[in-house]
Amino acid sequence: MRTIRGRLTFWYTVALTATVLVFGTALYLERRQSSVRELDQRLALEADFARRWLNESFNVLTTLVRPNDPQELQQGVAANFEGVRDLLLVFDRQGKTLYINDPVRQLNFAAIERLAAIPGAAPARAGEGTATLAGGEPPMRYALLPVDGAGPEVGAVVVAARLSAVAFGPADLLQSMVLVVPLILVASGVLGWFLAGRAMRPVDQLMDEVQEVTDGRSLHRRVLVPTSGDELARLAVTLNEMFSRLEQSFSQLRRFTADASHELKTPLTVLRTGIERSLVHPGTPPEVLESLDTTLEQLNQLNELVDSLLTLARADEGRAPLALEVADLRALVVDVGETAEMLAEQHGLESRVVVPGHPVEVRVDAHRMQQLLLNLVTNAVKYTPAGGSVELLLEEEPEAGEGDGVRLIVRDSGIGIAAVDVPHIFDRFWRADPARSRTGDRPGVGLGLAITKWIAEAHGGSIAVRSRPGRGSSFTVTLPRAGGGGVADRG
Ligand code: ADP
Repeated sequence: MRTIRGRLTFWYTVALTATVLVFGTALYLERRQSSVRELDQRLALEADFARRWLNESFNVLTTLVRPNDPQELQQGVAANFEGVRDLLLVFDRQGKTLYINDPVRQLNFAAIERLAAIPGAAPARAGEGTATLAGGEPPMRYALLPVDGAGPEVGAVVVAARLSAVAFGPADLLQSMVLVVPLILVASGVLGWFLAGRAMRPVDQLMDEVQEVTDGRSLHRRVLVPTSGDELARLAVTLNEMFSRLEQSFSQLRRFTADASHELKTPLTVLRTGIERSLVHPGTPPEVLESLDTTLEQLNQLNELVDSLLTLARADEGRAPLALEVADLRALVVDVGETAEMLAEQHGLESRVVVPGHPVEVRVDAHRMQQLLLNLVTNAVKYTPAGGSVELLLEEEPEAGEGDGVRLIVRDSGIGIAAVDVPHIFDRFWRADPARSRTGDRPGVGLGLAITKWIAEAHGGSIAVRSRPGRGSSFTVTLPRAGGGGVADRG
C-alpha cells in the first residue's frame, strides 16, 4: 500500500465494510424482533378466535367433549379449527390434549410431544401469553390462552407456528445480506479506487511537473497553478515561489563564479608575463630560476582552472554561444591526433588515429570540438600507465536509418574507472582519487569532463563511457550531423 490512492481505497472500503456490517446487524436484529412481534400478534389473534369459538359453542351445545377415552372435542366444534393454518391444540383443565388440528398431526412425534407439554410446563391459568417453545427443532413460537367459559372440560388453547414461517424471515434477510454485501463491497472498492485516482490526479500531475525540474538549470520552469484555489493550488504557488528563490540563488552563484573568474584572469596574465620575463632575464641565479619555474607551472594550472570555471559559468548563464560552421571532422581529429601522438610518445604509450577515407562534414564549433577532444585525449594519456595505448577514432553511425550521426571515440588501455564512480565522472570537481595531489603525477581539478559533456550536449549530442578497472576506458561522443544549432544556452 505504497500510494495514497491505495491507502484511501483501503480505508474507504474498511469504513464502508464496518458501516454495512453495523447497519446490517441492526437491520437484522430489528427485523427479527418485529417479525417475531407480528407472528405473536397473529398467534394471539388466532388463539383468541379459538377461545371465543369454544365459548360460543359451549353456550349452544352445553358440552364440547365426546365422552370417549381419551376425551376428544366434538367433531362439529373441531371442524371449525381445521381451516386454521397454524398449529392449534385444545387442552382440558389437566393439560391433556382434547384436539389437535391437521398441521399438528403432520408434525413428527417429538414435535407433537413438545407442543402437548406446553400447558404442563406453564399451567393454563398462569401461562397466558406467547413464548418460544423450549428446545428441539424446528424453533417455534406459541400463544397459550386459558379458556374459562367453555365448560369444565376445556382448559386452554395453544396456537403455535414455526419461526421460519414468518413472511420475510430474519434468516432470509441474513442470506440476502451474505450474498449482497460482498458485491456491494467489491463495487464500492472499485468505485473508491476510481474516485481516489481522480482525486489524486492533480497531485500526480504536480509531481510530474516538479520532477521535470531536475537540476539548477531547469529552475526557470514553473508548475501549472490549478484554478481550483484549493490546497493544491496553494502548494503549486508555494512551489513556484520556491523555484523563483532557488533560481535567483543559482543565478547569483553563477554570476559570482563568472565575475570572480573574469576578475582573476587579468592579474593572472600579468603575473605570468612577469614570471616569464624574469625567467629569461640574464643573470638570475639557478635556484631562483627553479623556484620561478615551479611557480609558473602552478600559475598555468591556476589559469586553466580559472578558464574552465569561466567556461562553465558562462555556459550556465547561457552566455557561451557556439560558433557553428560546417567542417570536415577528419581534419580536426587528425590535428588533435598529432597532439595525442606527441603526448603518448612522451608517456611511453602507443597511439593510433583512425578516420574514414571520405570527408565527414558536421556543423560544429571547431574550437570547442577541439577542446572536447583534447580533454579526452589528455585524460586517456594521464590515466594510462607507460606501455599502454591510446586510440582516437572517428566513425559514422553504422546503423542504416540512424546514419545521421558521427562518433568520436577516445579509447585507452589505462587504469579504468570503477563502476560506482562512472555516474560521477562528469560532475564538477569530481575526481576518482581526490587524495592524489593536484600537482602529482596526474594533475587536474575535475572540471575537464564536465566541460566535455557540456560541449557534446551543446552540439545536440551526448557522451557515454564504458570502462573496466585495470583494462581501460572508452569515451564515445555522438554528434548529430546537423549540429546543435547553438543550443549552448543552457548547457
Ligand atoms: P581531472 O582529469 O582533471 O581529474 P576530469 O573531469 O577530466 O578531471 O575527470 C574526472 C575524473 O574521471 C578523473 O579524476 C578520473 O578519476 C576519471 N577519469 C577521466 N578520464 C579517465 C580515463 N581515461 N581513465 C580513467 N579515469 C578517468
